[in-house]
Amino acid sequence: MSRVYNFSAGPSCLPEEVLNECAAEMLDYNGTGQSVMEMSHRSKAYEPIIQDAEAMVRKLMNVPENYKVMFIQGGGSTQFAMVAENLGIKNKKAAYIETGVWAKKAAAEAKKLGVAVDVIASSKDKGYSYIPRVEKVTGDYDYVYICLNNTIMGTHYEYLPDTGNIPLVADISSCVLSEPIDVSKFGLLFAGAQKNLAPAGVTLAIVREDLIPEPENCLPGTPTMLAYKTHADNGSMYNTPPCYTIYVLGKVLHWIEKNGGAEGMLKRNKEKADYLYNYLDSSDFYRATAEKGSRSLMNVPFLTKYSKGVADDPKEKEINDKFVKEATKAGLVNLKGHRLVGGMRASIYNAMTLDGVKALVEFMKKFAEENK
Ligand SMILES: *Cc1c(COP(=O)(O)O)cnc(C)c1O
Repeated sequence: MSRVYNFSAGPSCLPEEVLNECAAEMLDYNGTGQSVMEMSHRSKAYEPIIQDAEAMVRKLMNVPENYKVMFIQGGGSTQFAMVAENLGIKNKKAAYIETGVWAKKAAAEAKKLGVAVDVIASSKDKGYSYIPRVEKVTGDYDYVYICLNNTIMGTHYEYLPDTGNIPLVADISSCVLSEPIDVSKFGLLFAGAQKNLAPAGVTLAIVREDLIPEPENCLPGTPTMLAYKTHADNGSMYNTPPCYTIYVLGKVLHWIEKNGGAEGMLKRNKEKADYLYNYLDSSDFYRATAEKGSRSLMNVPFLTKYSKGVADDPKEKEINDKFVKEATKAGLVNLKGHRLVGGMRASIYNAMTLDGVKALVEFMKKFAEENK
């Protein structure tokens, strides 16, 4: 068996140790004679698994006591609606910073639900290649919404806007536990797990208790399952949770702890990202698309010198396809760029090793030499 280096934007690579542990426990978890996939979520064997996962989130992210930690289904995309339905209830008005696809989708969902959306800043003018600076937000907004790490554009906030008493909401799907985050600065954080935490199927939501309304106070027509209160009051067990995904998530969290927690991940991730960006910045064949000062440590989109920034340019398409094909042959997979940015994208989440990034850069050098 040989494993590849997987640069997928999500679902993405998981730590090999975790996969091995899951494999070892597949048929008989902890002497139960069952797989975690097969057992009741209300069983004595399962309950400690979900409780430990929550405790580990609290520990690694330093979650203050007055926040609820929830495991919800429906992915990050369902959170776009849940945020509006649960928080956009007082003035029915919210501010969104538009930094790309995911922030736009979130705003569109809020609008659809009748929340008045003010786009208070946007980086659309330069193809979302940077994070706009918003120092202070004031107004009668129910919340201010940001996407902390923009998976597609490869950008990341290096600051947080000062929103005073207005709750700050952040989508941290692609940067959760890749770095320390001060939870107390936010009213609500959410992250689909399939980028940095687990296989697909669960979304982590961390919400300040006073922001969780009674279900009947959510926007009219909010389904029971889309009220945070439903999940908060039932320890994420109102209905059947994605049991197996939460089990893997727990294991990933222990792996993160063993590797230095959020601080350890930041160190590891900076080392990897620096290695790749330094090469990109020194190359006359490739260039990173995200501006310095806004660059993601997790997602690194890049173009070749053949790119004219014109979608579907035949020469560009040819070279990109060749890159992806040859990289795959070399055991470096899922490097195709998102269609909105073009080129290639290397997602280098927590589980990607420095060796993987070095192998990628070696391949890139060789490819540049052969195609100059
Ligand atoms: C992947 C992603 C999403 C969408 O997540 P789904 O779980 O597929 O709904 C939302 N926001 C960000 C930042 C993402 O990277």
